[in-house]
Amino acid sequence: MDCIFCKIIRGDIPSQKLYEDELVYAFRDINPQAPFHALVVPKTHIGSADEITVDNSGAVAAVFTAIPKIAKAAGLGNGYRVITNIGEDGCQSVKHLHFHVLGGRKLPETMA
Ligand code: 5GP
Ligand code: ZN
Repeated sequence: MDCIFCKIIRGDIPSQKLYEDELVYAFRDINPQAPFHALVVPKTHIGSADEITVDNSGAVAAVFTAIPKIAKAAGLGNGYRVITNIGEDGCQSVKHLHFHVLGGRKLPETMA
C-alpha cells in the first residue's frame, strides 16, 4: 500500500526510531513543532481515529500504553500533549492513524 507511515514501519523509508513493540512504532517528526515531537502509530494500517472500532482498538490501546513510556524516556516529567488530527477539517496530512506527542516546553493553551 502506498502509505508513507506503513513504509516507515517496514523500514522502507528511514526514521529516527524512539520506541517499537509488536503493535506500535514511534519516531521523531521530520518537522518538529516543539523541542520533543514524536509520532506514535499502530503498526496496522488504520486511516484515522475516525476508523477506530472494537476490532482494531487493541492496537490503539497499545499505542496509549506506549506513550507514557516514550514520554518518560524523553524526560517529559512536567507534562506533554497528545494530539491526533482527523480528516480535512482536522488538517490530517498522513492518512495512517498517528498520535503527536509534544513537549519539552510550556505549550500554548489554544487548541484551535
Ligand atoms: P498530520 O498533519 O497528518 O497530523 O501529521 C503528519 C506529520 O507527519 C507531520 O507533522 C509531518 O511533519 C510528519 N511527517 C510527514 N512525512 C514524514 C516523514 O517522512 N518522516 C517523518 N519522520 N515525519 C513525517
Ligand atoms: Zn499506513
